[in-house]
Amino acid sequence: MKKLFFLLLLVLFSIVHADVIVEYNTSLAPEIIKTIKINSVDYFNVYELNKTFKAKISDDLLDQRVNVNIYHEQLIFLLDSSLVQHGSDYFNMTYNIIQSDGKYFLPVVFIKDILPQILSNMLKWESNKLIAQTPIDNSIRRIVLDPGHGGKDPGAVGYSKKNFEKEVVLELALKLKKKLEQQLDVVVLLSRDKDEFVSLQQRTKFANENSADLFISLHCNAHRNSKIDGIEVYYLSTAKTDEARAVEAMENQVVYEYEGGKEAVKKYDDLAFILADMAQSEHLEESFNLGANLQTALVNATKAYNRGVKQANFYVLRGAFMPSVLLEFGFLSNKEEEKKLINSSYQEKLIDSVFIGIRDFKKKYDQMQ
Ligand SMILES: [Zn+2]
Repeated sequence: MKKLFFLLLLVLFSIVHADVIVEYNTSLAPEIIKTIKINSVDYFNVYELNKTFKAKISDDLLDQRVNVNIYHEQLIFLLDSSLVQHGSDYFNMTYNIIQSDGKYFLPVVFIKDILPQILSNMLKWESNKLIAQTPIDNSIRRIVLDPGHGGKDPGAVGYSKKNFEKEVVLELALKLKKKLEQQLDVVVLLSRDKDEFVSLQQRTKFANENSADLFISLHCNAHRNSKIDGIEVYYLSTAKTDEARAVEAMENQVVYEYEGGKEAVKKYDDLAFILADMAQSEHLEESFNLGANLQTALVNATKAYNRGVKQANFYVLRGAFMPSVLLEFGFLSNKEEEKKLINSSYQEKLIDSVFIGIRDFKKKYDQMQ
């Protein structure tokens, strides 16, 4: 009788309380996906997937969709729809994804039925539990800093003709590496740590081969008009404005001048472009967000003229398969800005700002809360 009573209690409990238990096939402690009833259907907050599987979740309100990256697979949920897209396959969750209070809720059937179909190597639904492989950690741990130019390629030349972009950005990169490694839980690798020539292709290859999570290219600007000044940040896309196109041409010139002229340019254009562009477009939004963080922090700290976050088609960003941006810290061709760029307390401001920009981006990206 007592046994029956407990059984009844258990049945009642599981009816009222439909939370999903996740067990890992390693020593990791089990997790619970909390559920709630909406219109008498069991739902869960999509962020539970971050807690249990370290999934990366981003919403794109412009496209009315929620992206979930889980075990390196990209799933797309369309708002006001019951469909989940995975590659060219569509799955029907029966119930629509629900948006409420800036949060997104998925029907529990997704966990029990659809996710184990999509990730059959990673998950299975067994005796009312989800049995899962250890989640893959997507947090930012490795950053490549890319001091532009170097060796035979001096980059922008100062108004005074005494300072070169290649020297200023190397100094900034070395100081930035130190600060990031001391204060953030990351490893920082430099595409060059001395005055040597590194081709644009080698720079992104270096980042890809070292599985970098972020790629940040450091530069100083130059302009025929020495009055022009200010800070700008670029992320990859086809160049949008004439001005962006001019900076793009200048930074890309290295291919023409130092890497074998027309032939080399053609190689870059044919070879990696389409594939790289596709790979990078996956990170376009993240690259923009990183760029925006950096630009805000830099302008706030230095009070330099805000030239904005821009899109351009840099060779050096094309091959990087990770969020990546190119920073232009200021114009060496401007008399005042040149003085600032070689001043150590101004450099400190630049470094602190980039540090803050990366730290804030990482915090959001890692979803540590
Ligand atoms: Zn440059």
